[in-house]
Amino acid sequence: MSKPTHETLGFSTRAIHHAYDAYAGTGDLNPPVHMSSTYTFPTVEDGMKRFAGEQQGFVYSRVGNPTTVLLEQRLADLEGGEAALVTASGMGATAALLWTLLKPGDEIIADKTLYGCTYAFFNHGLAKFGVTITHVDMADPANLAAAISAKTRIVFFESPANPNMRLVDIPAVAAIAHQHDNCKVVVDNTYCTPYLQRPLELGADYVVHSATKYLGGHGDLIAGAIVGDAETLTQVRFYGIKDMTGAVMSSQDAFLVLRGLKTLALRMDRHCQNAQAIAAFLANHPAVAVCHYPGLESFPQYALAQRQMAQPGGMIAFELKGGFEAGCRFMNALKLITRAVSLGDAESLAQHPASMTHSTYTPEERAEHMISEGLVRISAGLEDIADLLRDVEQALCH
Ligand SMILES: *Cc1c(COP(=O)(O)O)cnc(C)c1O
Repeated sequence: MSKPTHETLGFSTRAIHHAYDAYAGTGDLNPPVHMSSTYTFPTVEDGMKRFAGEQQGFVYSRVGNPTTVLLEQRLADLEGGEAALVTASGMGATAALLWTLLKPGDEIIADKTLYGCTYAFFNHGLAKFGVTITHVDMADPANLAAAISAKTRIVFFESPANPNMRLVDIPAVAAIAHQHDNCKVVVDNTYCTPYLQRPLELGADYVVHSATKYLGGHGDLIAGAIVGDAETLTQVRFYGIKDMTGAVMSSQDAFLVLRGLKTLALRMDRHCQNAQAIAAFLANHPAVAVCHYPGLESFPQYALAQRQMAQPGGMIAFELKGGFEAGCRFMNALKLITRAVSLGDAESLAQHPASMTHSTYTPEERAEHMISEGLVRISAGLEDIADLLRDVEQALCH
């Protein structure tokens, strides 16, 4: 009997099986970890053909390795893209893609709220090489329509945005961007993973990921990925990765991300379930000014979340009434939820942007980027919900 086609297989089945034949070769149930930096050419003629791209086969692991290629095929399939490229980190993914697409004089329009290092890469890195960076509040697509011009090569955003959870309407923004030739839409889909949201199906051109987070899922590696059309990703592979960044994922890390993907759907279901319960508790607590979670009916973009995301995700942001001091007090009072940056791990993690990830901003800059002094971010983990709620409750009473 032939294997069922992809269209008939569900998300988890593809996350476990896609592109690997466990009966082939030595019959390993799990894909082998190919630990080789270089590959052999039977003859000079074979070598010539491989360099010319006329013969299938590997040359050197900075441009491809059988274990990383398997992960690329699987991620492309799950995101609904033609091709994928895995990288040494989420920052490596964004940097390799943008170094490939941009030249001096081009413009990026990015959302006002971005992961801190992405913000730094744009404004301190790319800006130095003559790329203009414009930030607009993309929660209202009209702001993009007002700012976009023939110079705009990239529209870049996260949805939900880190750390304040504001959403961007992906089809609406893509429609505005695509009125301009050569303007590409890049979505950082780290918070959602393809299980909850597939930006390419909603009109985006490229997806970038920090696979360090939910895709890996266990807080034991740093990794990234880009998904998009095969032609561009070939350019990114042979330029952005090979020559510009060298941000290559190791085969060991590719193996660990492949292992993480097997339980992605199960884990995301539990992350979402726990986050929903924590968010509902916070929203009704007198010490909390507002809880930002796309699964709450009080969330201003609740309708958009329902349209665009399969579930509201595992991330919560909430603002304490007591501002900066209350944020610090809550963080120090946590006993089970762990004080740490990063997200998407089995362990629930909490961070206070004003004292941690965004501490180098002035209070005015934080206000400008919609990060309040009492904002706390929680990555809901996989623990028992009763234990998490008890911890949040006792920490709020301090
Ligand atoms: C962590 C993160 C990144 C950066 O990824 P690294 O793997 O740490 O380089 C980018 N975007 C978002 C939304 C993130 O959470």
